[in-house]
Amino acid sequence: MRTPLIVGNWKMNKTASEAAAFIRDLLERLTPSPKADVVLAPPFTSLESAGKALGPSSWISLGAQNLHWDPQGSFTGEVSASMLRELGCRYVIVGHSERRLLFGERDETIQKKVRAALAQGLAPIICVGESLAEREADKTKSAVTTQLNGGLAGLTQQDLVTVTIAYEPVWAIGTGRAATTEQAVAVHRSIRSFMETGWNSTTAAAMRILYGGSVTPQNAESLLASEAIDGALVGGACLNPDSFARIVRIAQTRRA
Ligand code: PEP
Repeated sequence: MRTPLIVGNWKMNKTASEAAAFIRDLLERLTPSPKADVVLAPPFTSLESAGKALGPSSWISLGAQNLHWDPQGSFTGEVSASMLRELGCRYVIVGHSERRLLFGERDETIQKKVRAALAQGLAPIICVGESLAEREADKTKSAVTTQLNGGLAGLTQQDLVTVTIAYEPVWAIGTGRAATTEQAVAVHRSIRSFMETGWNSTTAAAMRILYGGSVTPQNAESLLASEAIDGALVGGACLNPDSFARIVRIAQTRRA
């Protein structure tokens, strides 16, 4: 049984002091439970204060939103996997559609980032998803498969143990128009079968596949009720402690 995972992607929101205040509020609303894993992904500048607010060996993990693939060097404005590890990160989001669309990230660099994360013991959360034009042209499966091939090529079964895939249709991100549970389930099943074909059924069965794109406390119940959906990558709704806590509680009580 895969433990559900809820990830809050704060994007470019919350200063260091706002992050600490948010986490104090969030912790009061939640009860730790082994039934769901929770990750907060603040901006780089708020990672340290977020880590302090969570406290040592917190049941909520820290994640970053991006990384550079080299361990150090002349890469102005970039941050390496070891820098993130030292700040207490356990996860890192890689290949978010905003990085692909606004910052020109390509599958080749995404693959290098995934390898850099794994080499430092960070668990990558790799985002894939089709554009509206691709969905309308019936190219969802091929778009997602191309991204999976690009991001995961050459990874071993051992590597994949810590990898999470986030299926995030681009047309659903920040639009208030989430995929229906049926739409999400169909793509999740095709991702799992891609893993089965490319690796094996053990790897495919162990891998968590999250849904992301306008997840709210209202639609989380239906999305997370499906055995094909192992959790959520939440953007807008994770910035409010009440709505994020409600989504976490839905994950903690599902399949109970
Ligand atoms: C995201 O950016 O990963 C995301 C899912 O955003 P939202 O929940 O706001 O659609």
